[in-house]
Amino acid sequence: MAVKITELCINCGACIEECPATAIVGAEDSPLGGDVTYVKPEKCIECEGSDPRCATNCPTEGAIVWDLPYIAEYNDYYMDGHKNGIYKIRENKKGETLFPAVSPKPFQAGVSIAKREKHTNVVS
Ligand code: SF4
Ligand code: SF4
Repeated sequence: MAVKITELCINCGACIEECPATAIVGAEDSPLGGDVTYVKPEKCIECEGSDPRCATNCPTEGAIVWDLPYIAEYNDYYMDGHKNGIYKIRENKKGETLFPAVSPKPFQAGVSIAKREKHTNVVS
């Protein structure tokens, strides 16, 4: 990721069309089978240098929060999340799960790790 959608999401769908990376799916298509809209961390590019479009178009405070960068350094974090049902990372055609070590994504270096670890609101 990335960014992450929380249980506060009201499933309005406003973020889905805004994402330039087609990283967001509605609750009905969530690979977690949950009740809320879902960001695929293996696709999110953090809108590369501009404000995350999902969050700037979200009407619900606290629904979109920062998560750790999707890079090899945080591979274990995403592997654990995948094992524990927090994420469901896709596989490529070779059957490799697209963890950060396999397929890292751009992230906004200006957002601190402390902010990300606390999952603070993207728009505050
Ligand atoms: S931060 Fe950008 S790329 Fe990531 S889910 Fe939001 S709109 Fe998509
Ligand atoms: S815009 Fe916000 S409230 Fe609406 S679906 Fe996306 S995360 Fe949920």
